Amino acid sequence: MPEIARRGLCLVIAAPSGGGKTTIAQAMLGADNTLVRSVSVTTRKPRPGEENGRDYHFIDDARFAAMREGGALLEWAGVFGRQYGTPRAPVEAAIAAGRDVVLAIDVQGHALVRAALPGDVVGLFVLPPSMAELARRLDTRASDSAEQIATRLATARHEIARVVEFDHVLINDDLDAAVRRAQAVLEAARCARSRLSGLGAFVAGLG
Ligand code: ADP
Ligand code: 5GP
Repeated sequence: MPEIARRGLCLVIAAPSGGGKTTIAQAMLGADNTLVRSVSVTTRKPRPGEENGRDYHFIDDARFAAMREGGALLEWAGVFGRQYGTPRAPVEAAIAAGRDVVLAIDVQGHALVRAALPGDVVGLFVLPPSMAELARRLDTRASDSAEQIATRLATARHEIARVVEFDHVLINDDLDAAVRRAQAVLEAARCARSRLSGLGAFVAGLG
């Protein structure tokens, strides 16, 4: 397949906790092996089934502070009393190499990454079909206490109010349909002329 050289992009998928951003990001990564997954660092403890280096890099407060102060994080935020951050180097390296990175982070993270990587971010907000369904999905993650779930639901309303900061929005009702829409957003962003650094050369070489 002929390709036009281009700069990579950073697809930031945000949703309230339980909204399905991780599930959608995983499905996209599974279907497209050119996509790069950003693995966040966090000071929270792993949930059952979570793996260090795959789901998160689970680190302690001292290491987190060292990374933050050393400029190794593209963005960071305190969420539910724990620290979360996006390692800078893998994202910048992928974009420079023309590869696309997927981040599943919160709305604060989206705003910070957008500021840190001007022009490189495509923001996709994932809405739940209803607050009742969001509560049900949070409830299926048995490791969270009732109190944690109540906090996450209260926070969700504030996060949803920030949907206006995003380029694209979808409702995560049927999962397959949501994944298809997210893939369509990515495909369209890949065609954005502003990122096609090799367009002139490609056109000149058409013959
Ligand atoms: P987030 O990363 O936004 O916190 P997750 O991707 O972990 O959310 O999804 C929360 C829960 O909801 C998971 O148990 C996931 O399997 C489930 N889930 C996600 N999308 C759907 C969907 N469209 N229909 C039913 N359950 C879903
Ligand atoms: P969880 O503990 O459920 O995995 O994540 C809690 C919240 O932290 C979610 O809203 C999630 O998107 C957010 N989060 C995860 N990684 C990052 C990150 O690297 N940066 C920011 N800002 N938020 C993150």
